[in-house]
Amino acid sequence: MRLSRYFLPVLKENPAEAQIVSHRLMLRAGMIKQAQAGIYSWLPLGYKVLRNVEAIVHQEQQRAGHIPLLMPTLQSADLWRESGRYDAYGEEMLRITDRQGRDMLYGPTNEELITDIFRSHVSSYKDLPLTLYHIQWKFRDEIRPRFGVMRGREFLMKDGYNFDVDYEAAMRAYDRHMVSYLRTYERMGLKAIPMRADSGPIGGEDTHEFLVLADTGESEVFYDAAITDLTLGDRAVDYDDAAQLRSICEEWTTPYARTDETHDESLFDAIPEDRRKSSRGIEVGQIFYFGTKYSDPLNAAVQTADGGKVPVHMGSHGIGVSRLLGAIIEASHDDKGIIWPEGVTPFHCGIVNLRQGDEAADAECNRIYAALVAAGLEPLYDDTNERAGGKFATMDLIGLPWRITVGPRGLKNGVVELTSRRTGESEELSPEAAVQKVA
Ligand code: ATP
Ligand code: MG
Ligand code: MG
Ligand code: MG
Repeated sequence: MRLSRYFLPVLKENPAEAQIVSHRLMLRAGMIKQAQAGIYSWLPLGYKVLRNVEAIVHQEQQRAGHIPLLMPTLQSADLWRESGRYDAYGEEMLRITDRQGRDMLYGPTNEELITDIFRSHVSSYKDLPLTLYHIQWKFRDEIRPRFGVMRGREFLMKDGYNFDVDYEAAMRAYDRHMVSYLRTYERMGLKAIPMRADSGPIGGEDTHEFLVLADTGESEVFYDAAITDLTLGDRAVDYDDAAQLRSICEEWTTPYARTDETHDESLFDAIPEDRRKSSRGIEVGQIFYFGTKYSDPLNAAVQTADGGKVPVHMGSHGIGVSRLLGAIIEASHDDKGIIWPEGVTPFHCGIVNLRQGDEAADAECNRIYAALVAAGLEPLYDDTNERAGGKFATMDLIGLPWRITVGPRGLKNGVVELTSRRTGESEELSPEAAVQKVA
């Protein structure tokens, strides 16, 4: 992409309404624009990162054997009356009436709708296990929408639902979700810690929230520092190997890690003092096992091997896709702007032309651009007439991992400058070597 042809409305000034750094940087980098309180338009740069985050979530869910589908945002109130949640859900639910006077709602979550799909088409244990998920907009009429996309009213969520014949099978689904979530966050450059949590209005027995540690997080968390050393790295995960999944989950759930709702002082005090940590965290996902809470009232049952009939055991599992952009920025920025992890960056490399209109500089920028594209990368070429300082400031603000700077002086010696956004280190090298290093 050439910047002169792109739409990147960066802001020079700090927007007054932004209280936390991720909100401020998303506005300044021209990623989002507020449409109404807690409702945002995703401008091209923000939309690109959102799609990248979404793609990682899809890949990791499908790797775990979970099947994508798409349910609508608008739902019928009748299904929610059947489960008993229409009245119970409260004021966070946006209720709508159509021209026929039918009660509808903008889905805050999808347990009812997915259970209705399941009961219409599945009646035998032979069709299990089954996990279906989608990535769809949700609406919750949050009393205090704030911090930009972190607590929106309209937000993008991945929500997945497992259907299993009994408790043991449902716990395997729980483990699959925990491991696939760990992988998902790691690929985004995030350390998200699974913490034993409280089940809240969705209701359930077993649940973990995934929290990214950050001072601006809304949750209070308590944990054993040992858990922050754990990584999956590149270990091979076999999602059909229940024992392997269990051992990974045990690894992550053995060190103490809880939110304030389930915090237990006596257990916490048993941790060696130097490892006892309390801080703030951003909830970027949650997994629940809730058994037959929805399958009972909605009559979602299957025939068993011995001819009996049992309600299916379910769980639901959510990732805050749009919130993740805020969480990634909270975890990865400096005073100049965002520092995108490679896995989600909107462009792989910036190209800055120090002397637009100089024949040699223009030609070299074009060559580097073509070479990066040929290597399968997406560069952003600042081909505007802005002065160098302004170009650097924009590149630093939008946080691309690499910048290649091209100017007539360097070209006389056959070199360009390659700069890493994360370390700030620059080196002079040939254009070919620079491209090779980025690729
Ligand atoms: P919170 O405690 O932050 O209100 P929640 O527990 O109500 O979140 P869940 O029902 O667990 O949310 O939804 C799954 C995920 O969706 C959450 O872990 C979070 O990452 C994301 N999410 C929930 N509410 C919002 C929101 N208002 N804006 C953006 N993301 C949200
Ligand atoms: Mg909530
Ligand atoms: Mg919560
Ligand atoms: Mg939650």
